[in-house]
Amino acid sequence: MTGDGPRSSPPPVFIPRSLADAMIAHARAEAPLEACGIIGGSGERALRFYPARNADRSPVRYTVHPEDQLRILWELEEHGEELWGIFHSHPRSEAYPSPTDVRFAYYPEAYYVIASLADPARPVLRAFRIVDGHITEYPIVFEAPGERAGS
Ligand SMILES: [Zn+2]
Repeated sequence: MTGDGPRSSPPPVFIPRSLADAMIAHARAEAPLEACGIIGGSGERALRFYPARNADRSPVRYTVHPEDQLRILWELEEHGEELWGIFHSHPRSEAYPSPTDVRFAYYPEAYYVIASLADPARPVLRAFRIVDGHITEYPIVFEAPGERAGS
């Protein structure tokens, strides 16, 4: 009855706690510039985080450095992982896609994972898909080591 209509809530995605911590650490290391990276994974599960350089070196936008992107795409293939997600940070604003993020969202299959450091004591990580300018948020389940929720 409910089906997969636009009103049904999106299914959760699974990110190991250690991966989330690595993303936040990368965001903090690059602040006040935006940090970025690529996430390898499979299905609804993130498996590996590949930090990259922000070629823009900007506090308000990012481009995954082309050299890093090439290297990471090779590594994904080596590990048998999909290009699961694209990570970047918002040093001062909330963890929600900016108009620029939406405009340059070239990967409709990927999850856009955004970290916010707006409250430095409470970093926030959220996941979205951006398709044809339309933003859908996917709830994140943070998995503890050795735990695989839902499997
Ligand atoms: Zn952004």
